[in-house]
Amino acid sequence: MTEKEEIVEAIGHLYRRGLITLSEGNVSLRKGEVFYITPGGTRKDRVRPSEVAEVSLGGEILRGRPSSEYLLHLEIYRRRPDVVAVVHAHPSFVLSLASAGIPLRYPILAEAVFLLGPVPIVEFSLPSSQELADRAGKASLRHDALILQNHGAVTLGPSLDLALAMMETMEHVAEVLWRSLNLGRVSLLEEAEVERLLGLRKKYGLSPRPWRAEDFLWTLEG
Ligand SMILES: [Zn+2]
Repeated sequence: MTEKEEIVEAIGHLYRRGLITLSEGNVSLRKGEVFYITPGGTRKDRVRPSEVAEVSLGGEILRGRPSSEYLLHLEIYRRRPDVVAVVHAHPSFVLSLASAGIPLRYPILAEAVFLLGPVPIVEFSLPSSQELADRAGKASLRHDALILQNHGAVTLGPSLDLALAMMETMEHVAEVLWRSLNLGRVSLLEEAEVERLLGLRKKYGLSPRPWRAEDFLWTLEG
């Protein structure tokens, strides 16, 4: 599969999984000094490989009409040379919890702990703005999964498959937290287990991150 075909498949997958609506979301894949990114202004279930845009890491649009959110992708690639793919979606459970002020920093699911770590909420900026790109880029120095306040979520990874899997995991853990809160009980992992889980990152080809058990939240409010 070419990079452009991979992008088309990934954005279609996000739509079919209900992680974006028809007009939302964007996906990019870096290759050398350029990255390929979904086009803006098209239905996300019908993107054609020929419509996939190409942007240089210098910020120059080389081909096509990139998603209006391309600055966010650019700022992440500039700051994180290890990142090969960036996925941006608008997952409902993640956004509902964030809207209610409930962060995704509770260690409740093993895979979410080592794949996502403690997920920060990036302060609101207008979508597609340089300010949003700068804030998300800055947060990406310490994190591979971000929530954009009152807007959406971003995952970044060493491959498009992994960045997509991280987005699904983020929505999955948010749904489990939502349902647990509704049941009135949430059981957290133990600190020693969280430290051991973070140690698994290398085995899965993930770059080491600076998270420790203390970066997670250990008491549920309210
Ligand atoms: Zn968005």
